[in-house]
Amino acid sequence: MGSRMAEKVRKSEEEWKKELSPQQYHVLREKGTEPAFTGELHKNKKEGTYKCAACGEDLFSSDTKFDSGSGWPSFYLPMSNDKIEEKTDRSLFMTRTEVLCAKCGGHLGHVFDDGPKLTGLRYCVNSASLKFEETEKKKE
Ligand code: FE
Repeated sequence: MGSRMAEKVRKSEEEWKKELSPQQYHVLREKGTEPAFTGELHKNKKEGTYKCAACGEDLFSSDTKFDSGSGWPSFYLPMSNDKIEEKTDRSLFMTRTEVLCAKCGGHLGHVFDDGPKLTGLRYCVNSASLKFEETEKKKE
């Protein structure tokens, strides 16, 4: 069994700027944060997959989404550990753990250790970094 090297998506900032909306660019490439309760997905309860808005990689499943009351989509687990990268972020006089898409390096949000029981983690992710794909109901 051969282990497949995960392919990375590398694009110039110029290219990202063309492909992303100004808000997506600000969050994903400039590590911005959308204001709480303004994103499209924090209240989304549909069944499906949350993908990276930049490169399309599957990042989170609706099964692990919970209402944290923070105003941002919150998950207690990523789809798999190799989908995301974590980095220490010492901006704004705090030490936080930044979460990035492992495939394209896009900024997603932060992970905190005040999540629900199963993992104790709360991945706090900007709606602007995500693209939601609803699970298709199987038809007979
Ligand atoms: Fe990505």
